[in-house]
Amino acid sequence: MDAPATLTLPTPIPPTPTGLFIGGRWREGSGGPIGVEDPSTGEIFAAVANATVGDAEEALDAAVAAQEEWAAVPGRERGEILRAAFEGIIREREGFAALIGLEMGKPRADALAEVTYGAEFLRWFAEEAVRIEGGFATAPEGGLRILTMKQPVGPTLLITPWNFPLAMATRKVGPALAAGCTAILKPAAQTPLTALLFAAVMQRAGVPNGVLGVLVTSESAQVSSALLADQRLRKVSFTGSTPVGRLLTAQAAPNLQRVSMELGGNGAFVVLEDADLDRAVAGAMVAKLRNGGQSCTAANRFLVHERLAGEFSRRLASAMDAVTVGPAADPDTEVGPIVDGVQRERVQALVGGALESGADALCAPRPLPECGHFVAPTVLARVPADAPILAAEIFGPVAPVVEFADDAEALALANDTEHGLVGFVFGSDIDRCLTFAEGLRTGMVGINRGVVSNAAAPFGGIKQSGLGREGGPVGIEEYLDLKYVAA
Ligand code: NAD
Repeated sequence: MDAPATLTLPTPIPPTPTGLFIGGRWREGSGGPIGVEDPSTGEIFAAVANATVGDAEEALDAAVAAQEEWAAVPGRERGEILRAAFEGIIREREGFAALIGLEMGKPRADALAEVTYGAEFLRWFAEEAVRIEGGFATAPEGGLRILTMKQPVGPTLLITPWNFPLAMATRKVGPALAAGCTAILKPAAQTPLTALLFAAVMQRAGVPNGVLGVLVTSESAQVSSALLADQRLRKVSFTGSTPVGRLLTAQAAPNLQRVSMELGGNGAFVVLEDADLDRAVAGAMVAKLRNGGQSCTAANRFLVHERLAGEFSRRLASAMDAVTVGPAADPDTEVGPIVDGVQRERVQALVGGALESGADALCAPRPLPECGHFVAPTVLARVPADAPILAAEIFGPVAPVVEFADDAEALALANDTEHGLVGFVFGSDIDRCLTFAEGLRTGMVGINRGVVSNAAAPFGGIKQSGLGREGGPVGIEEYLDLKYVAA
């Protein structure tokens, strides 16, 4: 086994590779090194290899060369490798969580939750690798047997964002490898080390050379367009912003590569007139503050019945005031920094715009650490319906509240967005909540709960939030072609 050039980081983080992972080997990149910033301090603490288009072409050559043999590996064996990788991650649970904290700013409890969630995709798809089934039927008029079989789509490109650096990778690599596809993972440049440590775990778990490659690059656009221009690549699965998703879908069109798109959200969190306020506030805290609001499934707009809005906003603001904001490494921290200065300024500008348009900030002012990219958790009451913050994906710990008069108005407001990833509804009458859930134009709905993600459930959006589903029994289908054999 080729030994990677590793970085020694604070305990409990295991030695972490910094190279590119191509054809089962760790190597230098052809571009100048990429610095990795700790968002809690603003300091660059590591440098990793940077892939150019030439490196990417080599990674594709390796993925293509390994494809046939990997597809022929029995499902049980593919599953056992994924299972070993699941166990490898769980063994290094604390180390992965600390690394995610270091490069992404995620506090320990959130980071541990991501590791558990992320590892689970490997266990889930290890179990799915042995259930890739075909079918047999006879044509209604007789004289024809209809056989169906599922086969891997071929080499895949998997592009992931910075906000869940482990889970977004396992949610794609798990099903791709379980289906018998080879994969090139391109993580976000802000959070490359988690993906590289994950690749080291996969290598130790026995993934054959070329089946998984990892390319960190500062030239994402050039690398991915070069790979998509090569028709040997058969699929791109992307998690990230809607504009980049549109671009990649267009780039996949000439070669008709299959696409899975997990894009932005603008989730409504609806508190119906009969909601239990304690439950709604507890749900709002999770839906808003998990990962400091930097989640595609974060509640973005709080739509609250006019009778409850004042009380809900006050209670949410006092719960937010009680939260400890600080560096990810501090054990008391509940909300960490925003991932980088650009994102922090974007969030601050959205808050400033809402205040100018007449909204009130309800949280008490608090001192924030001087270094790093911190934003104070904030509730914005009486936000006008046309404020830009309601149309943007906030990606920060900010909760704008809008009042409504009845369920019909709430549904119209909730659906008044180009996005359709997730919605949340809180109410005491389950029938009423289910009716509301049926009316929401989203791929997912949480009823009286602020988190919906689970490896066993189909995750994904409609409208401008994406195409396809990850996780659940359908997740592996994104990586399988259906073949019909007439006999
Ligand atoms: P982003 O679109 O800027 O980047 C995502 C990935 O795409 C990164 O790896 C980045 O390097 C790469 N990339 C950027 N420009 C590219 C280009 N022109 N061509 C090819 N690749 C390119 O998004 P982000 O800021 O890293 O992540 C936040 C976004 O991700 C939010 O919109 C969030 O809602 C979304 N997201 C969606 C889900 C989901 O499952 N629906 C999950 C997490 C995050």
